[in-house]
Amino acid sequence: MTHQKLEALKKYFGYDFFRPQQAEIIDTVMADKDCLVLMPTGGGKSVCFQIPAILRPGLTVVISPLIALMKDQVEALRGNGVNAAFLNSSISSAEQDQIIWQAKLGELKLLYIAPERLFSGNTFEFLKEWNVGLFAIDESHCISSWGHDFRPEYRQLNTLKLRFPDVPIIALTATADRVTRRDILKQLRIEHSETFIASFDRPNLSLNVLPGRKRLQQIQSFIAKHENQAGIIYCLSRKGTEAVAASLQNAGYKAEFYHAGLASEKRSKVQEKFLKDDIQIIVATIAFGMGIDKSNVRWIIHYNLPSNVESFYQEIGRAGRDGTPSDTVLFYSYMDIITRQDMINNSDQSAEQKELLHAKLNRMKQYAEADICRRRILLSYFNEAVEKDCGNCDVCQNPRTRFDATIIAQKALSGIARTDQKVAMGMLIDILRGSRNRNVLQFGYDRLPTFGAGIELRGEEWGDYISQLLNSGVMDIAYDEAHTFKLNPVSRQILKGERKVELVKFIPLNERKAKEEEL
Ligand code: ADP
Ligand code: ZN
Repeated sequence: MTHQKLEALKKYFGYDFFRPQQAEIIDTVMADKDCLVLMPTGGGKSVCFQIPAILRPGLTVVISPLIALMKDQVEALRGNGVNAAFLNSSISSAEQDQIIWQAKLGELKLLYIAPERLFSGNTFEFLKEWNVGLFAIDESHCISSWGHDFRPEYRQLNTLKLRFPDVPIIALTATADRVTRRDILKQLRIEHSETFIASFDRPNLSLNVLPGRKRLQQIQSFIAKHENQAGIIYCLSRKGTEAVAASLQNAGYKAEFYHAGLASEKRSKVQEKFLKDDIQIIVATIAFGMGIDKSNVRWIIHYNLPSNVESFYQEIGRAGRDGTPSDTVLFYSYMDIITRQDMINNSDQSAEQKELLHAKLNRMKQYAEADICRRRILLSYFNEAVEKDCGNCDVCQNPRTRFDATIIAQKALSGIARTDQKVAMGMLIDILRGSRNRNVLQFGYDRLPTFGAGIELRGEEWGDYISQLLNSGVMDIAYDEAHTFKLNPVSRQILKGERKVELVKFIPLNERKAKEEEL
């Protein structure tokens, strides 16, 4: 048996060794047992069902939502002499009929189907006539509304086990927290089966968070130090991708934007050019990347804060798939959190779902604001314990020191109090720094005792410290009143000297060490 699967790995895929977990997973499937496989993108999930598909009698039906990826996988399998096909909306109905016929005759080993195709027409009924030996559910987190990419058409897979009790199911995903994992098992009715969790650590990816100021400028100096290296910049909005791409083009870079609003031919063209290294930089919304197999992406920048850790991890996971050192950068400011919170609050989700989205966003915020090793935080999200600090994140390279910042907090809070809680970030900093600009003068804020009380700190330091104060609940922000700052009970205790505050010492960008100097 061991012999057989290793031979198959060599013969059909050209590899000499299994990666961690692959052999155990294949053994489980070969023993007719259901299982859930959690492995990072690029970890090697496909062979976990492709080798059993080759070795087992009957047809393996692979459910996948990624039409573009199906074609690639099927072509790769055929190239290696495995009889595989796919059914989805991209092929003619005559071709579909022919494939259905082949399946019935038992001529296929693997058949990839998009879920909406499986549940349209009579396809699900045909399954009974085919000799199905295994179901592989790829991207299985799509079945769970606890996950971050719920697809209603996936829900219908919950009848598979009832209709085919004797056919084992292997569910696979690169992205599922504990709750989602449990839900996948429940939805598929395979609660008691084994879950295999491969390590999510990608030590070759450096993890960096940079303050979300002058982002374009920071990006340009970053790219200048990554000459001719392929990278992806993720933006929140379509407009954002266009603006960033335009500015990079103006600076002479081969950059293109990519989002779901583009015609599909245009999208494939941009994708193709990126794969072939004809363009260096893709500026994209999250629409880009699902199923893109480019191993030499050297860096990922998040222009805006992702909505949750799973998405973030998947997106940075597109860098360095060849194992070579690669850099990831997340820009972060408190405004990003506010934008995301507003998006959740204004969405038409149920109250329960909103609560979940806020909780997920909060985990993302913890990563961005970490003052301990970022990799520890990331991996702990996937319930993976880490023995020691990674040495390859900005926090490890620039250990944070805390200091008593009570006076700093008092200055900021008194600025808020004396302006009747009517100022937002920019104005508060101007007052503290004693800037006589028009707005400050117009409101007479130059006559306040707080005016110029914070001259010893630079504007960017104030920005950083005020964000930290906000994040640690020392004051509030009124999203619906032009983001002005408000005092809360904690603020009042600090103003009265009844409570102390500690903050993390700000390190200016140009003083950050090692990796970041390179950035
Ligand atoms: P995933 O679906 O988990 O994102 P893939 O199945 O596409 O990952 O595998 C990622 C890459 O790793 C592919 O190029 C695949 O051929 C390769 N791979 C898989 N298993 C092995 C192995 N045992 N040894 C070497 N390379 C492997
Ligand atoms: Zn670290």
